[in-house]
Amino acid sequence: ATSSDEKAAALSTTPSDSPTIFDKIISKEIPSNIVYEDEKALAFRDISPQAPTHIIIIPKVKDGLTRLSNAEERHVEILGHLLYVAKLVAKQEGLDDGFRIVINDGPLGCQSVYHLHVHILGGRQMNWPPG
Ligand code: C5P
Repeated sequence: ATSSDEKAAALSTTPSDSPTIFDKIISKEIPSNIVYEDEKALAFRDISPQAPTHIIIIPKVKDGLTRLSNAEERHVEILGHLLYVAKLVAKQEGLDDGFRIVINDGPLGCQSVYHLHVHILGGRQMNWPPG
């Protein structure tokens, strides 16, 4: 998918608390390329990679955490855990010279799946500012 496809998908998605495709990835109802799993988090390769390494990290239990802007005090622990898992996965993937962490929020942030997730992008020089 091109970046404009990603943007179109984000802009055609209505933010909601409904189940998403990520629930089916968690339940293994649909296959994914899992690179890390523990009791609270799952990490799998993005189906439409935007870098040589592109991994999505999600909480196994959404608990209302559709997007970062919906975070509540009770989510602080899982939010910290997801970032720590990002560090573990980056290490496992050999991204020793650096990587990019992204959390898209809402239509303007180009979020297309309303189950909070952390992107890890690496394996190439990233640019700043992002698009
Ligand atoms: O941040 P955003 O909501 O745009 O990211 C969703 C990501 O989930 C996209 O990068 C998309 O390629 C990925 N995805 C996936 N497998 C699916 C559906 C979406 O890896 N089945």
